[in-house]
Amino acid sequence: MRTSRSVIRFLLLCTLPCSLVAQVPTPESVLGHRVGADSMLADWGQIGAYFARLAAASPRVRVDTLGVTTQGRPYLLVTITDSTNLARRAELMAAQRRLADPRTLEPAAEGALEASQPAVVLISCSIHSTEIAASQMAMELAWRLVADSGEAALLRHVVVLLVPSANPDGIDIVTDWYRRTRGTPYDGSSPPWLFHPYVGHDDNRDWYMLTQPETRYLTRVLYHDWFPEVVYDIHQMGGNGARMFVPPFADPVNPNLDGMLVAAINEVGAVMAGALADSGYTGVAHQIDFDLWWHGGNRSVPSRHNMIGILTEAASARIASPARLAPDALRQPERGVNYPSPWPGGWWRLRDIVDYELTTSEALVRFASREHAAFVSRFVRLGRRAVEAGRTQQPAAYVIPPAQRDEGARAQFANLLIAGGVEVRRARTPFAAGGREYPAGSLVIPLAQPFRAHVKDLVERQAYPARSAYPGGPALPPYDVTGWTLPLQMGVTVDSLGAPVAGDLDPVDSVVATPGRISGAGAVVLLANRSNGEATAVWRALAAGASVAIAPAPFEAGGRTWPAGTLALRGRSARAVLDTAARALGFDGVAVPRLAAWPGALTVTHQPRVALYRSWNANMDEGWTRWVLERLGVPYTTVTDSMVRAGDLAQRFDVVLLPSESPAAIRDGRRPGSAPPRYTGGLGKEGAAALRAFLDSGGTLIALGEASAYAIGDLGVPGSVAGAARRGGGAQPADPSRFSAPGSVFEAEIDRGHPVASGMDSVTAVYFIQTPILNAAPGDRVIVAYPRDRNPLLSGYVEGVEALEGHPALLEAPVAGGRGRAILFGFRPQHRGQTNATFKLLTNAILYGAARTH
Ligand SMILES: [Zn+2]
Repeated sequence: MRTSRSVIRFLLLCTLPCSLVAQVPTPESVLGHRVGADSMLADWGQIGAYFARLAAASPRVRVDTLGVTTQGRPYLLVTITDSTNLARRAELMAAQRRLADPRTLEPAAEGALEASQPAVVLISCSIHSTEIAASQMAMELAWRLVADSGEAALLRHVVVLLVPSANPDGIDIVTDWYRRTRGTPYDGSSPPWLFHPYVGHDDNRDWYMLTQPETRYLTRVLYHDWFPEVVYDIHQMGGNGARMFVPPFADPVNPNLDGMLVAAINEVGAVMAGALADSGYTGVAHQIDFDLWWHGGNRSVPSRHNMIGILTEAASARIASPARLAPDALRQPERGVNYPSPWPGGWWRLRDIVDYELTTSEALVRFASREHAAFVSRFVRLGRRAVEAGRTQQPAAYVIPPAQRDEGARAQFANLLIAGGVEVRRARTPFAAGGREYPAGSLVIPLAQPFRAHVKDLVERQAYPARSAYPGGPALPPYDVTGWTLPLQMGVTVDSLGAPVAGDLDPVDSVVATPGRISGAGAVVLLANRSNGEATAVWRALAAGASVAIAPAPFEAGGRTWPAGTLALRGRSARAVLDTAARALGFDGVAVPRLAAWPGALTVTHQPRVALYRSWNANMDEGWTRWVLERLGVPYTTVTDSMVRAGDLAQRFDVVLLPSESPAAIRDGRRPGSAPPRYTGGLGKEGAAALRAFLDSGGTLIALGEASAYAIGDLGVPGSVAGAARRGGGAQPADPSRFSAPGSVFEAEIDRGHPVASGMDSVTAVYFIQTPILNAAPGDRVIVAYPRDRNPLLSGYVEGVEALEGHPALLEAPVAGGRGRAILFGFRPQHRGQTNATFKLLTNAILYGAARTH
């Protein structure tokens, strides 16, 4: 039965005699099907419409649109609490801010707030859109919380911040694909494209880097508006094991997490597991796969803000289609303390997932309401302990000096700390600290602040404590990456101080790059090309008709010596473009009247024509490549399997760029029968032949990470693969090479004489994850290499590091007698949009591919 809007208005007008139950519409009455019914999904429009109806009908519900998503959909936050709480929402938010920072809290106010303040719980659904049950469950959870008159007392002591989807675009991407394939041989398959327009599944690895608008909206709610005590992130995992993972998490525990917080996570997990067991639900597993080491997820970043970060992972069905599992097809853990009641097997449906998730969500809301004073009190104590640790332990403060090599990266780094709720201050006057002099304008981050764990874990170098499956056996892979040190990845200088900075410090709420300028007069502008802003400026200048020459050797001009790799830009409108860019993006250049000729110099006279390969495997690295190129202002054309197979690439493109993807995935694509035929089969032999013809006719192929092995193995690019990192995701059999580096930062040395090294220092940090180790062939030119004489690990973990030492990290392999060339990356230059320090190697490689000798 459908309830019309006018009926709801009428019911609202007669509030006194009417019971709440009669007023609030059930999800079924709006959707036309029961939540979680086989093969039925509500799309984002229907989910939004339901919450709008609910908010219109109930004084306990408020719906806010936090902004628009990447594709323009509304991003929703639903607040559910007692109507008196909702009426004093601003007051509650202000109180949460004070609770989050105990330095602002009077002892008397603390006692009063512990008694009166409701607990605040944020529940985030379906950030991974194929894990779609929670987005559906959210409607029934909200209805249950507000429709049952027995819940009035419950909602007095808890505010539920419900995010029906942390990636609304993906709900429609998956729902649309599911509806198109439902009842066909491809029923229940995953879409052949990313379910977040840029970053796909990595949308839950963006919570400190904040590259996407969806991440930024929720980050504002968490660390600027609401400061919840609990953040519950609801996921699904593979379908043939345990039915649900519930905390406690697996080891190791990151040393920056307070033990009191870890205990609180375990306590909430136990309450959830107890509720599941009481309801007769089986197959609940603890301490599998998901660890407390990794930073960057929607439950792990809150845990570095004194918030109880909870993750559950339910077994998946086939999107919304039921799955049947025979008991002997199940891969479930042994019955034991961490797996008390194995699941007997049988049918597993979307509604089963909804039921498990409703049970854990309601258990959390009830527990937080009942124990609200304890949640509030612990939140305050955790903040106080963090402040105290910052006062008594090292380091005492971080300093970010101004005028760095990449001002854009410096400002971006400071701004994402501020967005993450970190207190950043700016020195009004020069000061000395740690034996160094710092100018006015230096940014100071005192560590005696409540969100100390977040900033400390981003700045310091990780030392992942490896664990083995058995003594002497290979290391167990971590859940995600092992190292992420952001100043290394971004190429930003951050100093650690042993004592607090005494001096004039102003609070800062945003940081901009110090404006740069082009000095001097003349027809040629020289750029050192040290920042990513310069790459953007070069592309803008090319679009305005400029030419760009790359200095093949050091030279003198304008009264100074310029290194090899310096860029010389010529063109009538170039100066104006560069003046504007230098101011906005924070770099300097020098104009000179003329230059001595550079014999054999490479010159780019048009915007490089870039083909960016997109497979139908929904490859996240492709999305990140796209995102980084767009952010830097580098145009590209997406090419799919059929477009590559059609050939004639050399006529249309200077550069073909292959994002990191395994050779088998590029070659064979999706298995025939797993998706409609146009999305299966990969590049195949025809595609490989077309790429080889492109190289033979003088094209430049840039292969990132795993795609380098494809270039060598399938295209005959000179070089070889020495070994590859073992993949994560469970214990692996011993690998003869014993090499493993599952997401680590390494040091690498650069040949600054190569044009692709333009603007780089002689040493850089590179990000390594699931990447082949390369060997150069005779005639190849090594541009970047791992050092031979020392362990290159800077942050994270490596096993069997000798397999890496001395190997190329980036090389140029000439093809067809040097007519064409491949640039092979043995690392990830644009990893998750975080590695600003090496973006330039990618843009330089593109520039190099379009350059000709004049
Ligand atoms: Zn997930």
